Formats: sequence, C-alpha cells, structure tokens
Amino acid sequence: MRVLARLDELYAIGGGHGANRPYGSPEEDAAHTLVADWMREAGLEVEFDAHGNLFGRTSMRDDIWVGSHLDSVPKGGRFDGPLGVVGGLAAVERSGCGSVVAFRGEEVGCIGSRALCAGGAALPAAFLELHIEQGPVLERAGAALGVVTSIVAYARGELVFEGRAGHAGTTPMDGRDDALVAAAAAILRIRETAGRIEGGVATVGQLAVEPGGSNVIPERVRISVDARAPDATQLDELIAAIGFEPSDRTPPAAMAEGPRRILLDELNGRGLPAIELPSGAGHDAGILAAAGVPSAMLFVRSLNGGISHSPDELSADEDVELAVDVLTASVERIANDLEPAK
Ligand SMILES: [Zn+2]
Repeated sequence: MRVLARLDELYAIGGGHGANRPYGSPEEDAAHTLVADWMREAGLEVEFDAHGNLFGRTSMRDDIWVGSHLDSVPKGGRFDGPLGVVGGLAAVERSGCGSVVAFRGEEVGCIGSRALCAGGAALPAAFLELHIEQGPVLERAGAALGVVTSIVAYARGELVFEGRAGHAGTTPMDGRDDALVAAAAAILRIRETAGRIEGGVATVGQLAVEPGGSNVIPERVRISVDARAPDATQLDELIAAIGFEPSDRTPPAAMAEGPRRILLDELNGRGLPAIELPSGAGHDAGILAAAGVPSAMLFVRSLNGGISHSPDELSADEDVELAVDVLTASVERIANDLEPAK
C-alpha cells in the first residue's frame, strides 16, 4: 500500500533509527518538499503559506481540509504526524475533493496551525485529522479505529531553581545550597500533585544544570513542566498546585458534532465498533477547533501497548488501510453535506 511506503520514506529522512525531523530543521523541510512532490504527482495545486505550512488543493471543495504535521520529536515514531498527512493525501486524491495540509512544528506547540489561525487567513469549512492514538485505549477495546470526543487542556512552562555553586570536595554537606537537589524534590512533588487531580498528568522532560561540572555544586537548574487535564478548571488547579507560570497554554477543544457523526457513521457502516475517546495529546485539530473550525479526529489503534514518541510506535497495516478508507468516505460525505466556508 502506497501510504505505508510513503511513511517509510518520510521515516528514513531522519537517517534511520527513529524519526528526527524537529521543527525548523532541514529534515522537516525535506519532509515538506517530498510531500509537495507527491501532491504535484496527484495533480493537486501546491502552495506554502507564510508560516511554511504546506497545502495541496483539489478544485472541488478545497475548503475541506484533511491533514496533520510532518515534524517529529527526537527519535520519534513512524506514524505520529505523517500518517495524517499521507493518509490525508490519499483520501483527497481518491475522493477528488478537499485539500490536504501539512502543518509546521506541531510537536513544539502547534506553531504552524496556531500562526495560521492567528494570521487572519481564510479558515476551512471543516478539518479532519487522522492520527495514531498514542495510547492503549483502542488496543484494549479490540478496536482498529476510534473517534475523538475532545482534546485535553494543557500548559507548558518551566521552573528555575537558584542555589550557590561550590567545590564538590571542600563544601561541607550542611553548608550547601544545591539547586539540583531542590529541583529533584520539586519533580517528585509535581508527580504527586498531578496524581491527586482527576485525569491530571504532569511531566518534567528537560533539565538544564549550570554550571554543569561533575565536581561543582549546581548553581542554577531549569526544568520543563508539561501539565494536562480534561478541562480548564482542573488544569488551573494543577498549574496552581505545581506553582509554575505557563509560557504556552491550550484550552480543551471539543470536536464538532457534524464531522464526528460522519466518522462514527462510517465506522458503523463497516460493522466496526464505534469507540469514542478523548485525546490526552494536543493536536492541530485542537487549534483549528479553538479557532471555530468544525473539526474531528480519527484515531488508529496503537500497538505495543500504545507506546508513542518512540521508534517502537506501531499501527497494523490493515488498520491504516481501514483508516484511509474511512477518511476518504468521510471527506466525500462532508463535501456533500456541509455548507461551504463563507
Ligand atoms: Zn502528532
């Protein structure tokens, strides 16, 4: 199947083990160039917007967008992002309607879709995003596909701990002000705090230690904080409990009834279980939904227990095939059912 071969081609851009296409890198550019070529091959009209987002448009209902992103986390998987772009391209090509879009920098805060929505460009009449689930729900339910109800609220920021540098050998233990020890205590506290809030999760994934010598007491430590919760109130509670100032914050985003219903209908029509689930991860669809675009997401079952942001991220070939079929039929139906964008 061509979608799978294309996922392999995009995966190879990072050079082998794991996808390595961070935002703004030559690898992300290379992925956009490659997909633009595939769009031209499919006879689509290709355009990059001012933010570097890539569009491939048909001449029929190009106000219905299908897509996702092409950037990746370091050592990412094969499916996160590219599945929605190459699957979207297949759906647009087969149905002969709609536009496929590849957004920039999703993994670092949905840079491309945010810029687009903030920039006053014409927004679509609907947006569909196909994505790997990145969790274990569908696998546990024995379902190949699922329809997203809403995307959780999340916030990112950092905490800084100041101490006093000193000689590792000559400074007595009782006279120290070690910034990393303070940070370590905070990281443990963050874990407990998130565990007390229903549906809350919080993660420290980055640690910058200064001056960073093995024989120097740490003077300054910066830790990243990523906090998520099902709704805005719970997120506020979590942010206050952790005690950080978010530098970037995304409200929860409900998926739209119309396109969601169509995805569910397509699952029902194929005799598939119509599972609905929230997304714990942020997505471009959440940004478009927040900007008022009727948006929906189709999740494909993650294997390996739902592992993602890892080379072990996996979906079955037949699940991907099914997802592209459902997406294609849904684009056609939305094109027929939905009023054009004003
Ligand atoms: Zn993604």
